[in-house]
Amino acid sequence: MKNKNHKKRLTTAFGIPVGDDQNSLTAGNRGPVLMQDVHLLEKLGHFDRERIPERVVHAKGAGAGGYFEVTSDVSKYTKADFLSKVGKKTEVFARFSTVGGEKGSADAERDPRGFAVKFYTEEGNYDFVGNNTPVFFIRDPLKFSDFIHTQKRNPSTNCKDPDMFWDFLSLTPESIHQVTILFSDRGIPATYRHMNGYSSHTFMWYNDKEEYFWVQYHFKTDQKIKNLTRQDAEIFKGKDPDHATRDLYDAIEKGEYPSWTLQVQIMTPEEAEDYRFDIFDITKVWPHADFPPREVGRLVLNRNPDNYFAEVEQAAFSPGNLVPGIAPSPDKMLQARLFSYHDTHIHRLGPNYHLIPVNTSKNAQENSYQRDGLMRTDKNFGGKPNYWPNSFNGPEPDETAKQPPFKILGKVDRYPFTHPNDDFIQPRALYRDVMKDMDRDHLIGNIVDHLSNAQKRIKLRQAALFYKVDPDYGRRVAEGIGVDPKKVEKLSKMSNEERVKATSSDDTIRNL
Ligand code: NDP
Repeated sequence: MKNKNHKKRLTTAFGIPVGDDQNSLTAGNRGPVLMQDVHLLEKLGHFDRERIPERVVHAKGAGAGGYFEVTSDVSKYTKADFLSKVGKKTEVFARFSTVGGEKGSADAERDPRGFAVKFYTEEGNYDFVGNNTPVFFIRDPLKFSDFIHTQKRNPSTNCKDPDMFWDFLSLTPESIHQVTILFSDRGIPATYRHMNGYSSHTFMWYNDKEEYFWVQYHFKTDQKIKNLTRQDAEIFKGKDPDHATRDLYDAIEKGEYPSWTLQVQIMTPEEAEDYRFDIFDITKVWPHADFPPREVGRLVLNRNPDNYFAEVEQAAFSPGNLVPGIAPSPDKMLQARLFSYHDTHIHRLGPNYHLIPVNTSKNAQENSYQRDGLMRTDKNFGGKPNYWPNSFNGPEPDETAKQPPFKILGKVDRYPFTHPNDDFIQPRALYRDVMKDMDRDHLIGNIVDHLSNAQKRIKLRQAALFYKVDPDYGRRVAEGIGVDPKKVEKLSKMSNEERVKATSSDDTIRNL
């Protein structure tokens, strides 16, 4: 704690001087405590309410302030003001996190890392809410709460449960790309400074001519990728569960400011139309060879928060906070997140969470017609009109802030993605072409270490998915977890329905 070296008079929360903060008010030397010790009552009452609901996901995190600077001209693709010219700087606040653990969980868990950046632009706050992985486990939001339940605690034992974890994944083949990344060395970044951040979703950029483009963001670490082996991670989890939180804070205190280079991949609507897979499917990346990343700018974190609760715990990011020039894509997962983040912040922080200083649009004035509500801590717009339209000079919509129209055709229905066999192509490229021998050895070791704890029929079903990615991958996992590689091969050749049926009980797997 920093020693400011000047004394102030202690007061209650209402500024009333406190005479004694060591001895409660009692009736006599050995008598009971009196209700009239309002200072004691205030202290206890506030303490009892100190915790706010922790985030359902991304509960454990670390954050820092800094700036973003544009280094390349992208103005022909987007009219976003904060990206409008080379050299333009925008204040930011970033928060990194693990996903599945509680607020006190270890930083060295194998888990995706959240990578969220709030840009305080002159056109309002723009939130980038990404992860350190370019893809995700599922691509339809109806599956999200089920998926997260499987990564958390068993409702009966209250322990993490390998059966739940692998049961869901093995029944959800679209997860195989993300599972392969999660169990590679990138699944445990050494620190928050040594990982990339990806939008994972596709977003729309549009310019002032109403031309639009599809984009994917990549924040590339300037510190280089560095990961922990699972053996090293075990040591960190035991010795210093907060190691990544501490690392970020210490690096900034020492003046070693971490930075990331922002690159984007850009696709025209025509290219998207004919592309070989659905570019709104979050389980896919856009191959670099087809869509080379182009530099946009640099993110630098150079300020530690003075108070963790005020800035990091209360920071609230939402993928729906998009400024003119940037819009959502039809990615179903993104569409659900546009609702869910705002909704959870209202639950966690209240309907006026936008007034908490870390969340305010500090470089753009709020001129809305929203009023009142719990914890409205400002002047609540005084006597200004609280409805629109009005004839009292209230704020008016600005047509130039509208996103360009784009065409959608089709019948209302519940559509599965139409390219199910594509799920194995990209993890195959990762396993065969991108990974080196050591990466593959670590990947297999990490999977074996975890999957070995699941039931046999779940092991077989999951190993079959690895086999579908690559026979060598499936065989090595099968051998490591002690199941018959021939049965795994057989399961890998079945349709999803057949495989699920064939692994539905101990009897069915005996008959394989
Ligand atoms: P490239 O060879 O151009 O790209 C491969 C990328 O894989 C690298 O640029 C790097 O991404 C990332 N990478 C390198 N080592 C690992 C590792 N051990 N674990 C996870 N990712 C790693 O080929 P493509 O663009 O055609 O992609 C091939 C495969 O690479 C994809 O199917 C996907 O699995 C993976 N990948 C692709 C990314 C993309 O946006 N195209 C991003 C990340 C992974 P980076 O430069 O971002 O660090």
